[in-house]
Amino acid sequence: MAEKWVYSFGGGTGEGDAKMKNLLGGKGANLAEMAVLQIPVPAGFTITTEVCTYYYKNDKTYPQSLQADVLAALGKVEQIMGMKFGDPANPLLVSVRSGARSSMPGMMETVLNVGLCTSTIPGLVKKTGNPRFVYDAYRRLIMMYSDVVMEKAAGIEPAEGKGIRVQLDRMLHELKDKRGAKSDADLGEDDLKDLVARFKVRVREVLGKEFPDDPLEQLWGGIGAVFSSWNGKRAVDYRRIERIPDEWGTAVNVQAMVFGNMGDSSATGVAFTRNPATGDNRFYGEWLPNAQGEDVVAGIRTPNPLNDATKNAQNEHLPSLEAAMADTYKQLDGIRLKLENHFKDMQDIEFTIQEGRLWMLQCRNGKRNGPAAVRMALDMLKEGLIDDKTAVRRVAPNQLDELLHPILDPKGEQKAHAIAKGLPAGPGGATGHIVFTAADAVAWAKQGKAVILVREETNPEDVDGMWSSKGILTARGGMTSHAALVARGWGKCCIVGCGALHVDAHAKTLKVDGTTLKEGDFISLNGTKGNVYEGQIAMVDPTSDPELSNQIETFLSLADKFRTIGVRTNADTPQDAAKARAFGAQGIGLFRTEHMFYGGGENSTKALLQLRRMIVARNESERRAALAELFPLVKEDIKATLAAMDGLPVTIRLLDPPLHEFVPQGDAERKRLVEVAGITLADLDKRAEALHEVNPMMGHRGVRLGVTFPEISEMQIRAILESAAELTKAGKKALPEIMVPVVGTVLELDHQRAIVDRIHAEVCKTCGVDKVEFLYGTMIEIPRACLTADKIAQTAEFFSFGTNDLTQMGFGFSRDDIGGFVPDYVEKKILPADPFQILDQEGIGQLIQMAIEKGRKTNPKLKIGICGEHGGEPSSVMFCHRVGMNYVSCSPFRVPIARLAAAQAALGD
Ligand code: ADP
Ligand code: MG
Ligand code: MG
Repeated sequence: MAEKWVYSFGGGTGEGDAKMKNLLGGKGANLAEMAVLQIPVPAGFTITTEVCTYYYKNDKTYPQSLQADVLAALGKVEQIMGMKFGDPANPLLVSVRSGARSSMPGMMETVLNVGLCTSTIPGLVKKTGNPRFVYDAYRRLIMMYSDVVMEKAAGIEPAEGKGIRVQLDRMLHELKDKRGAKSDADLGEDDLKDLVARFKVRVREVLGKEFPDDPLEQLWGGIGAVFSSWNGKRAVDYRRIERIPDEWGTAVNVQAMVFGNMGDSSATGVAFTRNPATGDNRFYGEWLPNAQGEDVVAGIRTPNPLNDATKNAQNEHLPSLEAAMADTYKQLDGIRLKLENHFKDMQDIEFTIQEGRLWMLQCRNGKRNGPAAVRMALDMLKEGLIDDKTAVRRVAPNQLDELLHPILDPKGEQKAHAIAKGLPAGPGGATGHIVFTAADAVAWAKQGKAVILVREETNPEDVDGMWSSKGILTARGGMTSHAALVARGWGKCCIVGCGALHVDAHAKTLKVDGTTLKEGDFISLNGTKGNVYEGQIAMVDPTSDPELSNQIETFLSLADKFRTIGVRTNADTPQDAAKARAFGAQGIGLFRTEHMFYGGGENSTKALLQLRRMIVARNESERRAALAELFPLVKEDIKATLAAMDGLPVTIRLLDPPLHEFVPQGDAERKRLVEVAGITLADLDKRAEALHEVNPMMGHRGVRLGVTFPEISEMQIRAILESAAELTKAGKKALPEIMVPVVGTVLELDHQRAIVDRIHAEVCKTCGVDKVEFLYGTMIEIPRACLTADKIAQTAEFFSFGTNDLTQMGFGFSRDDIGGFVPDYVEKKILPADPFQILDQEGIGQLIQMAIEKGRKTNPKLKIGICGEHGGEPSSVMFCHRVGMNYVSCSPFRVPIARLAAAQAALGD
């Protein structure tokens, strides 16, 4: 059988359905589904993503039968709509729309009003009796087509401000100014007629080609342009950010046009079945009378509110659709319910009203930010729309990150000078330097600066700059504008439609409220409220809001029902430990003793001095003297942490970093050390010299320190075991796990185990107990440890994968030097992602799997976890679940993310 390249929909039937997104793209699949649901959809057809694949594989040509298939499908559309494409008397116009598997808002091209030309214009004028409308449609066709098909798809890259779209836009604006017209809708028939004539001349001058006057030529031009927009710069940028594979391809939808620009009983709009910023279960949207398609999203006019629930300071004076077209609104509201009940999720919809008649043009699962995602999942569960498993799946683990992301410090906010208010399009706070172009945002961010991108409005070309910014601020556009849509998808702080701003991207200034701000000046955004402030405001942790943290906790408890692996946290102080328990951590997977020396507090300074004294000691007895003074400080820290965790396991790692890291550099500190240690500055320099290593990362560190200086291990082990013994004696619970770092052979572990046994016996005696409960194990972070894991498991009672070092040593990438080359590797697709952020399952993952298998063969009860940064990264957590780890451990703020990712892993996602 010949392959099927084209699928029709409309007139109450559809050859495709919502399940066919891979083949038909999200838009095409859902248009077919809506048609079958008897929702009014203009008839059309979808050219499959496989044609896109074919197109790129075959030198930008189409399968042989495609032409005939398209004409046949067009025939069906003509039949359903009762019009004919290219017919002078009763012409059908179509839109040519892109549609990838997962939505890429505004990233690819759409051309409306295809089929308008000298031979069809008079017929349409006669049929509609509305010449103004016809010429408005024609000028839109010329603007879109010359840009999308004749310029972009032809590979022409005009200089900034010289693109055909910009030039035609400028002509339109000049005309409006001349006529004193406030909006496009105020231009009349003669103006538009004259404008299109001049447009055509300009197109010929700039692009060296006539604007095509043949409907079929327009149609095929549009189809080709959509396919080639798949590889346009902004689509490619967006795919990188969203990790959408290049191979997917886009479908093309050709659909009969319906017109929102036929007068005051016509309109177009965009809506969400629930509020995408808060999750509130009320219909939410924007609309424009007498407008077409992209006008709402493009932020050309401030759109009207759909209903009262959508009113805000910017639009409350404008009529709502509910008030202006009550019947149509009611019908739309009915469709809203029908769609939610059918898709069982919040829908993002596009609609057009042509002379009072409602048409649906798109529906898809709406993007939402973190707080809204949690709220909707919990609400829909309560409403019985979805079950608990589905609810847990509804929130992407990374979205929780947003809920836990910093907001502006309310105290700082109170004192700050508010300069403007806009629409709260993306919640949270952001503070940073003002930049005015996407390119500047990228460049400044590369230098490690926090920036806020300030634009008149954003367009899809700005995505990489938007991504690089901490926050986005626009002067124009509504809650469904491009900036709002994109920011919401990323969970980025964003304020749009801030009309008081005068943005001059050319001069790089922002004038507002009598103040002029320049590039580099500080500005702060409260994206939850829409407030803009001059200057820098400190950021704080949002979980201090009780309502929000309640919702998160309810949701995470639901997730915990399904989770099968433990989630612990990495914590280095008793305070961290307490916070981690509040986030739901079930233990500490990594307690780094050395962090007590970094703290800067009084105890920490004392401890650091003694540690330094130990480092410069010339012999064992001097070293022991310093260790004896260090002991009570280390013990206090460990004991308080064990107490805070109240019987939950605490993995305590023995001293890991190379000693020279602690050698003082400053004069004052050097003098102080020399005094306490009773040595000369020359002695100190000599000692520092001796400690110097060419490659400290792979030098004298970890267990190697304990082998050379057993008394260092001894002191720490005694602190751990005494703390535990004393706590248990006092009727409390304590479960320490002694972890030896940087082990490559079991003999290292045996060597330290002998010390542990000796100290254990001593502690039992001094504390008067039979035994202290603890586990003894190791960090697995050297490839050799993975290869010999069966032997290591003879001594180790647990493994904890230190995936930061394991990645470093497995790749041979110095963790401290990756900035110079890993970004290029990712860009050039040699690596799919930075392996220090996302675990390399293919390579390093094999080492882990092998170590688990070998280890458990020796000791089936071996406890296994991970304590690298990866322990809080969703895809890596899923991997840990699959390979049978007992727990993951991550930084306290990532605990909720790990809990959810682990639950979703257990649900088999
Ligand atoms: P995107 O994927 O960027 O949202 P669309 O293909 O949805 O692009 O097209 C953009 C807008 O064009 C739509 O929101 C809709 O308003 C308008 N549009 C597309 N097809 C038609 C049509 N057949 N009739 C009327 N308007 C249309
Ligand atoms: Mg759309
Ligand atoms: Mg390490």
